[in-house]
Amino acid sequence: MHHISQVLNDDSVGELVSVRGWVYRIRTSGKISFIVLRDSTGLIQCVASSDSLSREEFEKLSSLTVESSVMLTGKVKKDSRAVTGYELEISSSLIYQRNQMFPITKDKGEEFLLDNRHLWLRSREFSSVLRIRATLFKSFRDYLDENEYYEVQGPMMVSTATEGGSTLFKVPFFEDVVSLTQSSQFYLETMIFSLEKVYTIAPSFRAEKSRTRRHLTEYWHAEGEAAWFSNEDMMKEEEKMIEYMVKQVLERNHDDLITLGRDISKLESVKAPFPRFKYSEIIKKSSEFGLSLKYGDDFGADEERAITMNFDRPIFVTHYPLELKAFYHRPDPDSPGEALCHDLLAPEGIGEIIGGGERIWELDVLEERMKNASLNPQDYYWYVDLRKYGSVPHSGFGLGLDRMAWWITKRDTIRDAIPFPRTVRRIRP
Ligand code: ATP
Ligand code: MG
Repeated sequence: MHHISQVLNDDSVGELVSVRGWVYRIRTSGKISFIVLRDSTGLIQCVASSDSLSREEFEKLSSLTVESSVMLTGKVKKDSRAVTGYELEISSSLIYQRNQMFPITKDKGEEFLLDNRHLWLRSREFSSVLRIRATLFKSFRDYLDENEYYEVQGPMMVSTATEGGSTLFKVPFFEDVVSLTQSSQFYLETMIFSLEKVYTIAPSFRAEKSRTRRHLTEYWHAEGEAAWFSNEDMMKEEEKMIEYMVKQVLERNHDDLITLGRDISKLESVKAPFPRFKYSEIIKKSSEFGLSLKYGDDFGADEERAITMNFDRPIFVTHYPLELKAFYHRPDPDSPGEALCHDLLAPEGIGEIIGGGERIWELDVLEERMKNASLNPQDYYWYVDLRKYGSVPHSGFGLGLDRMAWWITKRDTIRDAIPFPRTVRRIRP
């Protein structure tokens, strides 16, 4: 048994091989049928000829439908007219399933494809998206493993909010009600005291009610946290990590990027260092981006699109006003109204893919910020405790892997960069 990609070369010519997979396309003209077969590695044109096959065998093959599952055996021939340059002359076959008309045909609408996502995943395009996601998950892990981070796990059912109460999902928990986690950050912070540098890849849940191109209600969150790191140290880590991840996709997924029609030169320019701007600089320059922002305005998708349109690589925006950020961000001792934080905005209009920064590590500052945010330190007693026993400066980040996949694959919306999107209007399939 061979994978299709193993057969597409001159060494295979004249060999008798078997390949198995799904019918991608079939065209028949009375005496000869062309079956393009697909497996996870590629396509090959297979030819059934009534001259060399029994009538029964020929008819069986000629009546196959798209997505039927088969094993085909035959000799390999070079043929420049065939879709991938080689052809298999079928001498025998095994049909696993000849199916009904496959429901997905050209010109189906977005909702139809979402309802049939379980079938649409087989398309060439979606297979490429899945492969690119696999590279992103692997390269994130590889980068951090190589740089002395330990992979750890936090709980998904929690009793605290990290990003504010408005996007919490509540779930029944015996006699109580708990939340699904919005981020594993606080739990990662607990583990830097054992391991210094830690990361996790886990789902985060946010009850995002508006339908945007960049929000899901359940997404894959790749988070890291490092003891002794300043905001600047963390940014240096992230830019090397993002550069590495993009380079891995360019190396491993070149054909997938072509299938998706991605402009590869745009990804080739993703090289560290990434430009850094303070929030206040962006406000000052806002007219250059065609925006009229004033100090204190938050950036939404529209603003971030305008800002990032003109860059060839991601940019960091640092030092947001404290009021715009969650309570745990450390105020800059040199400029107390600003947070020692950063967002990493991806280019080409994509916007935020990472939020990160230095965490408050002084007990009194944390208590003060919690009071301002009307939070009860009792509810966060374990998080507060970290500032009582051997507290150290530390920083961290959260990267939205689906956001990143959306950027790299350049789909219309983030929903087309994850196999089973969960949004305010979609929980099936
Ligand atoms: P946004 O302003 O886009 O809502 P955020 O400021 O709420 O983002 P953070 O809380 O900093 O985001 O989360 C860290 C990262 O997680 C973000 O940079 C983004 O990549 C990703 N992320 C956040 N919310 C979502 C979501 N609803 N769907 C997909 N990814 C998300
Ligand atoms: Mg948000």
